[in-house]
Amino acid sequence: MKIIDSIQRMAMLSKILKKESKTIGLVPTMGYLHDGHLSLIKTAKQHTDVAVVSIFVNPIQFSPKEDLDKYPRDLKRDEEMARLAGADVLFNPSAVDMYPEGYETYVDVERLSASLCGPHRPGHFRGVATVVVKLFGIVKPDIAYFGQKDAQQSVIIKKMVEDLNMDIDIKVLPTVREKDGLAMSSRNIYLSEKERKDALCLIEAISKAEAAVKSGERSASKIIKMMEGIIKEKPTAKIDYIDAVDTKSLRPVDTISKETLIALAVFVGKTRLVDNAILSP
Ligand code: AMP
Repeated sequence: MKIIDSIQRMAMLSKILKKESKTIGLVPTMGYLHDGHLSLIKTAKQHTDVAVVSIFVNPIQFSPKEDLDKYPRDLKRDEEMARLAGADVLFNPSAVDMYPEGYETYVDVERLSASLCGPHRPGHFRGVATVVVKLFGIVKPDIAYFGQKDAQQSVIIKKMVEDLNMDIDIKVLPTVREKDGLAMSSRNIYLSEKERKDALCLIEAISKAEAAVKSGERSASKIIKMMEGIIKEKPTAKIDYIDAVDTKSLRPVDTISKETLIALAVFVGKTRLVDNAILSP
């Protein structure tokens, strides 16, 4: 596995690979890898000739009050895990190279960024869309891989690729979970023992929502209320939002009459966790 921290060298390698007609798969991450990331890397390796994993804690997607400084980082561990998963290239550019002085170009996927996590994390999706466009420009992937865990992010990236006429296939892979159902996340490491137990309220609420739909419930507000009840029982949990929305437009729905995205963000202690599921009537 090649480790590249220079944008120029990464771009050069991609150019050479293109000339050799090799296909490139890109897995953009912020590092501190877990099995969720590894499933994306393994799939990239299966589908394409060269699997590139980028590790970049993107400062512009964090608001001043968020956890940029304490976001977990361990490049040595990530290198080992990425290598074992079959990555061919680990690209870890520096923040000053990605955003040198005078940097001033941003990508805003306007309406899709205005719902769910958007209002709770101002500027977040602008930061995400911008860094992904930059990574696409540097790595020139044929296919890029994202996780369903960040459902809104995946919808936004797909729309951005469509709107900007980018010739890149976006693949979204299922959420990988711990044995007890907690969605894997680099941020889970922040949880205390008690919070780790309480964090199960997210998957518990989702499972109950799925069961309710299966037994005929179609009212989004009733399902959301039931989920709120489950989460409020946990002393360390505080709901940021729970919404039922159309899977593509992300507009709120009242009735579950077709596949609907149920998405939630919950603070467990100081850690903000997100999870979601597609409810199928
Ligand atoms: P992050 O490093 O958290 O920015 O995530 C990098 C990529 O991995 C994103 O496309 C995420 O959606 C995806 N990802 C994160 N957690 C999971 C998970 N538990 N299962 C599947 N994909 C995930």
